[in-house]
Amino acid sequence: MQKKEHKISHIVPGSIAMELEIEPGDVLVSVNDTVIEDVFDYHYQLNEEYVTVVIRKPDGEEWEYEIEKEYDEDLGLEFENGLMDAYRSCSNHCIFCFIDQMPPGMRETLYFKDDDSRLSFLQGNYVTLTNMKDTDIERIITYKLAPINISVQTMNPKLRCEMLHNRFAGEALKKMRRLYEAGIEMNGQIVLCKGVNDKEELERSIRELTEYIPHMRSVSVVPAGLTKYRDGLYPLELFTKQEAIEVLRTVHGWQAFCMERFGTHFVHASDEWYLMAEQELPPEESYDGYLQLENGVGMLRLLIEEFEEAMRADEEQNADLYEIKETEKISIATGKLAAPLIERLAQQFMKRYPHKRIQVFPIRNEFFGEQITVAGLLTGQDLQKQLQNEDLGSRLLLPCSLLRSGEEVFLDDMTLQELKKALQVKIVIVNSNGQDLFDALLEQVTE
Ligand code: SF4
Repeated sequence: MQKKEHKISHIVPGSIAMELEIEPGDVLVSVNDTVIEDVFDYHYQLNEEYVTVVIRKPDGEEWEYEIEKEYDEDLGLEFENGLMDAYRSCSNHCIFCFIDQMPPGMRETLYFKDDDSRLSFLQGNYVTLTNMKDTDIERIITYKLAPINISVQTMNPKLRCEMLHNRFAGEALKKMRRLYEAGIEMNGQIVLCKGVNDKEELERSIRELTEYIPHMRSVSVVPAGLTKYRDGLYPLELFTKQEAIEVLRTVHGWQAFCMERFGTHFVHASDEWYLMAEQELPPEESYDGYLQLENGVGMLRLLIEEFEEAMRADEEQNADLYEIKETEKISIATGKLAAPLIERLAQQFMKRYPHKRIQVFPIRNEFFGEQITVAGLLTGQDLQKQLQNEDLGSRLLLPCSLLRSGEEVFLDDMTLQELKKALQVKIVIVNSNGQDLFDALLEQVTE
């Protein structure tokens, strides 16, 4: 077997590794005499009170450390490759794949199609199970890795092969049974494609997925995102308002059934369905603790709850209204989907703080096409184009989902600094949290 070694990039200050004078550039050779295949192996081997670690120094000398520590204490090593292995790409060609619908010329990493169960565990990514061997499933079970988030799409094996363009995709569904039998926690996702896996197929999928309760904790139903770059791809269409109402009827019917039978709502429609159907978002209780927020399920309900809670807390603490300060004009830019809701919250806010003049700009997504309405897929150039002739007031608030995680860069590589310069306004990035939105609106600008 080829020896896998992992180059250390950083040592956490104050950690065991620092105490042992392990340094960036050193190489991890083994832990407990075991060659480490990936980050799962590493964490599994470390979960001991005594560990033996072999490190190779740049001059080729190997040092063995016998370490006594707390059972789950980390060593403080960080590696050049966070996964400690190559990222697994997918073996599918899904008819709705967003990556196939991206314009050319974007950063190369954005075109990478991952389908890696380790990312499901580490970052919440969804996997199709199509490129997992039985040994991978057994490793998840042995290491008790959970939750595993699964892109189900349909429980009809033949249809799944067609949707994923992979003749093994139907067979791969059986792996869910093995995970279920081993008690591994899962979440499922159904990307709904009009005329493909909706209607009776959706009913069938939800019905068959209920067999995996309680280990399958939730299933989300999300509409396929369609950009303007679909030439030569499977002809998918947007759902109409009436069709969104029907999807919600199906989901709500199953929620009532699951609630009565299993005490959980189990299946959830993403926020987009409610906005498309022009229906009120469901109450907080029906989200079962927001298990699929990252899939846009309950995100808007949570935002409303947090924002209103922040308003109430502020009213209690400051029963008398703030002395009216100088009027401040603030702008918020967001996707067309959430804009009406943000506008509603802004109106609520202005009733209590009349010295704040808030304007909400729903930004059209010209980059990917106007059918894409979520904030997270807006680009710097669309913001610049649509806001440059507006009087934005003293501050422009933008949701953090517009920026690449941990960077001040938009999806199209425009930097926050470049946008600031182009719009000549102070930009405030707001976390997707109602309290943060409230605080950002309230804050007085002194400069
Ligand atoms: S699994 Fe399907 S949707 Fe996901 S990246 Fe691969 S082809 Fe695209």
